[in-house]
Amino acid sequence: MAEIRDGLRVVKFGGTSVATAGQLRKVRAIVEADPRRRAIVVSAPGKAHPKDTKITDLLYLAHELASKDQPIDPVWRQIEERFLGIARELGLRLELPPLLAEAKRRIEEGASADYAASRGEAIHGLLCAEWLDAEYIDAAEVVFFDRTGRLDEARTYAAIRARCQGARRVLIPGFYGTAANGGIKTFSRGGSDITGSIVAHALDAALYENWTDVSGFRMTDPRIVPDAKGISEITYGELRELSYMGANVLHEEAVFPVRAKGIPIQIKNTDRPEDPGTLIVAERDPGHQVVVGIAGTRGFTVIALEKTLMNAEVGFARRVLDVFASHGVSIEHMPTGIDTMSVVVSDRQLEGKLEVILEELQATVHPDSLKALPGMALIATVGLGMNHAIGTAARLFTALARARVNVRMIDQGSSEQNIIVGVEEDDLATAIRALYAEFA
Ligand code: ASP
Repeated sequence: MAEIRDGLRVVKFGGTSVATAGQLRKVRAIVEADPRRRAIVVSAPGKAHPKDTKITDLLYLAHELASKDQPIDPVWRQIEERFLGIARELGLRLELPPLLAEAKRRIEEGASADYAASRGEAIHGLLCAEWLDAEYIDAAEVVFFDRTGRLDEARTYAAIRARCQGARRVLIPGFYGTAANGGIKTFSRGGSDITGSIVAHALDAALYENWTDVSGFRMTDPRIVPDAKGISEITYGELRELSYMGANVLHEEAVFPVRAKGIPIQIKNTDRPEDPGTLIVAERDPGHQVVVGIAGTRGFTVIALEKTLMNAEVGFARRVLDVFASHGVSIEHMPTGIDTMSVVVSDRQLEGKLEVILEELQATVHPDSLKALPGMALIATVGLGMNHAIGTAARLFTALARARVNVRMIDQGSSEQNIIVGVEEDDLATAIRALYAEFA
């Protein structure tokens, strides 16, 4: 396992980790157990039980009602009760009613959806700061977006550094910051993970601990392989190949700020802090392990083109790709043969555009044959160890053949740390079970 440097740790707690007073007691024990845990990032309270609603969802609902001039009081009461209940149970002094009233007033007066949603983190941050004996720093004062809506890195990192200097322990709410126009802007859903990563980058943290409700990543989807092994160590690059295919423990974009500085991320379980979790690092020695994870997802269509002497036709691929680009459709993969080319696109991208794309392809490149084949699932089998292990592809295809899974597409990334296969959607679970049995 990679060594973790000694030094400041940023700890981020997700929605379920901070959903109730009981959970917040665990959080305090975790923070107090290690004096290096000096910067804390929190989400808004998530679900306290499976049938519960996240505070963020209630806030979006309140905004939606307000925008239709409907009363938000019933929803607002639920929000208030959650916060007041937690504060009461923990015996906090924080004056919540005026904070809640101000947020409600602004939402009723037409504040943006981003403002409404951000109040979950902002108010909970104040509450958690008192409970965890940390200095509260409003994310609106230290996280900035530029005019294009992207993070203003230089300004954000400098502001975080300046505000945190000399503080014993700080707490920054996740998920939002200030837009170029001065209003509140949020990241996409689950974005507190990104805030944690940004804070870790700014403070040159030794480690970014991401506390959640699972003990890290599993080798494959536990809904398909219930006893799938945990992943103890994985590189940013390997995780990227997997997360992109649908393993959602950590927000996809949360990797980039820490990756730029080689700061490891550790995924930990607030309910089982003794579990080792998953450590995400820049480099690792795969040892004898060839495959670190297998991720699959449904919902792809293959658009298959055939044309004699395609390989000799200058600009053929560009003209094909231009058709997709002109409709704002991004493509996933593009396996090619001498006279064939397939473009794999996610159905979400294609929605309502397939017919016109096919017509335009026909008109622009005049293929001999053009077919759309829906209902494909993609499976990524990922591992650094593949680089050196001869015969990995043979093992993979033999395992699929034995399970009688028909492979419709094959793509190996040039990094040689993944093999992607396309199978019928109905074969997805069978294929994943077969690959897990082969490589776990
Ligand atoms: N509370 C926000 C959400 O539910 C952000 C987060 O939890 O990271 O998406």
